[in-house]
Amino acid sequence: MRRVLSAILGILLAFAFLGIGTVPAEIEIISITDRAGLEAIRDYPGAAYRLDADIDLSDAPWIPIPLFSGVLDGNGYSLYNIYIESAGEALRSVYSSGQRHTEFPSVFSGFFACIEDAEIRDLALLNLCIDLQIDNSCFAGGLAGYAWQSTVSGCLIEARVRLVSSGKAAGAAGLIGCGFADLTNNTVYADVTLLDTGGETHSGAHAGVLLSEGGCEQYGGGLMAYGYGRIRDNRVHAQLWTAVDGFAHNGLLMGIWFVYTFDPGVTNIDIEGNVTGGDIYYLERVPPGHTGHAYTSAFCGEPHPPRGSKYTVAEWANKIRYRNSFENYQRHRLTEIAEPFGPEQCAAPDYSAEIFESSCTEFGYTQYTCTGCAYSYKTYMRPRHSFAESRVETSYTEGGYVSGVCTLCGYSAILSEWPALTPAPTAPAPTEEPDSGGEETDDIGGGTWNPVLLWLLVLIPVALLAGGWLIYRPLTVERLFNKLRRLSVYDWPFGLLHPIGLFPVHVKGLF
Ligand SMILES: [Zn+2]
Ligand SMILES: [Zn+2]
Repeated sequence: MRRVLSAILGILLAFAFLGIGTVPAEIEIISITDRAGLEAIRDYPGAAYRLDADIDLSDAPWIPIPLFSGVLDGNGYSLYNIYIESAGEALRSVYSSGQRHTEFPSVFSGFFACIEDAEIRDLALLNLCIDLQIDNSCFAGGLAGYAWQSTVSGCLIEARVRLVSSGKAAGAAGLIGCGFADLTNNTVYADVTLLDTGGETHSGAHAGVLLSEGGCEQYGGGLMAYGYGRIRDNRVHAQLWTAVDGFAHNGLLMGIWFVYTFDPGVTNIDIEGNVTGGDIYYLERVPPGHTGHAYTSAFCGEPHPPRGSKYTVAEWANKIRYRNSFENYQRHRLTEIAEPFGPEQCAAPDYSAEIFESSCTEFGYTQYTCTGCAYSYKTYMRPRHSFAESRVETSYTEGGYVSGVCTLCGYSAILSEWPALTPAPTAPAPTEEPDSGGEETDDIGGGTWNPVLLWLLVLIPVALLAGGWLIYRPLTVERLFNKLRRLSVYDWPFGLLHPIGLFPVHVKGLF
């Protein structure tokens, strides 16, 4: 009996110790399939994520994720119908391009407020709309307001960005507001409106004081409003509308190329292979005694060469001009601010809606077009199959389900399912109605064992057995020596499994 008991004890403990190794390995990539998963990025902003579904965010405004420093693989999926009305609280400094390097503490808005040391790839953001009125210096970009040493590649964004700011520095762009980033092979369609309402508070500019001594600066960009980086092979189509109390810096690619860091080691920068197109409408109110800069360009509004570089400003501008291309670019100087300011020209817009249904693989959309000025935008519907459904009722032995076969492409799927009836007389018959439209199926997985419960199941009997043994058969040093002396090869399997694990023990002899 004792031998059996001790064998059981040993085996139990062996499993207990082995259990340490069965804790699930750290999940390396977190899959996101719904809004809750996206929101959870806030809790672990340094982790690696992958989108595994298209996600509609129209149900509530999106609060910018304050800081992201992980990896987000869009995996070809889309986030769509995203409405942003706020900026993140994080402050970073932006610097004027003047000689004095004036610092502007700023807030940031975008799907992310800030990304730092982050990588974002193959993500689509459709109908992302930023509509923000703010008194701070602020930079807004559809993907991120601020980027630092981050990589964005293979992304598609269709954004409407409207920033009304009375801050001394402000910038708005389709993809990134401000910063230093590697932006490669992205496609951007953007309507960008930047309206400076600082007016009299921007007395520095109005009094003719140099910007670096208290004036203000504003930047509008199709891809990025302000900053530098490796900007390669992007396609940008933008409508920029900017009105500034100060100097305008507007470019279909970037408002200003400015290496604002003093770090002399910044060499990994480039700007080539980009294709742009679109219109820039701008109004520049310059200080008395100054002539306007009216920096506007199909590429970079004001192209500062890198600090200490061999290029002059003109040479740097030429380099950009020769290494990038544009089509259908036009600039339009405005002399007054029409109300409302921006691509939607009507004070009381009247929209007609035309619906284009989704296909099996393509997003559908509703196109809203203003009957007054013809401005239009889209809201999206995800791709979906047109299922012909058939229902199999549940029985006492088999679960029921609804299956669907797409009448367009033949794709078939289980749309919903539920378990077999339980025979207990009080068991209610399943009444769940199938989800008629969704591609989702309920995840009816077997539960997993709670590791804490497992440990308790193992440790309680072990404690009882060990306790009883210690009380009734105290182990003395002398007895232990005797037992050890009598160790034999027959005992080694159980000896190895000894609970204490410190010395092999002769199971038979010990009890
Ligand atoms: Zn209109
Ligand atoms: Zn289909």
